[in-house]
Amino acid sequence: MSVLNKQYLEQEEQIQALSEKWRDTLENQTLTNEEEYSKVDVFPIIPQIQLQVDLSDYQGFILELFTLLEENQPGLAGDIAKLKEVLTMDVLGQWFQEGIAVNHLFFEEFAKNANVKDWLPMFAAEHGVRPFLQKAAAELNEILKEAKAHHGCPACGEPSRLAVISKTGKKEITCPRCSYSWEEKKISCAHCGCEEPGKIEILRVEKDDRAEVHVCHECKGYTKVIDTRKLIRKDAPQLLDSKFIHLDYIAQEHGYGVSEGKDVH
Ligand SMILES: [Zn+2]
Ligand SMILES: [Zn+2]
Repeated sequence: MSVLNKQYLEQEEQIQALSEKWRDTLENQTLTNEEEYSKVDVFPIIPQIQLQVDLSDYQGFILELFTLLEENQPGLAGDIAKLKEVLTMDVLGQWFQEGIAVNHLFFEEFAKNANVKDWLPMFAAEHGVRPFLQKAAAELNEILKEAKAHHGCPACGEPSRLAVISKTGKKEITCPRCSYSWEEKKISCAHCGCEEPGKIEILRVEKDDRAEVHVCHECKGYTKVIDTRKLIRKDAPQLLDSKFIHLDYIAQEHGYGVSEGKDVH
């Protein structure tokens, strides 16, 4: 493992620990309104409802994330100072909405106007919304079970690019943003639902039987499938996603993709 990868993973682990702490602070809040979400009849639900959030919580998460990033990468200090200056409550409200929607264009434009690294606003905004997505998905759990066709996460809409083989040998698609997970047939495409024999191919990593990539010839999509029975420690899906990022590169080298790119920093 290269030094860069090691540092990247250490930072991911630190961010994950922060994220779990943030998620705990939201435990006693209710972010969704049943009257509102019961009227929504298509998935994903969260982008169609207004989450009841206290933006000062969101602000606190982002500021803590900035501190962590700055400690790991002192070169970001200037950019972070610039962002802190423009991050008013109004802007935080925008970041929250666009962070939920994963609006790449909005954040690229924002970065350009603020004259900071192009990935930084989106990275901070998107990580800051995850604890809210996770809390909301937990509140919506019952209604989410009604989703039949999954062409992405029924809670937040994230493309299904990560699955785990659970202790009982079942294939569960897990959302690295909101942590909602659902069971799927072993051989089926998590993007288009294709189950035709021969259309789903399995790419394996040499000398590593813990993980494989399921690619679909029909829609050119892929899903990383990680056998958690073969892992020494059970990491959160967000960390598994990062630890097996080489599988994304393998899939992409073979010409497969997911409907939305995930930025890697
Ligand atoms: Zn999700
Ligand atoms: Zn497919």
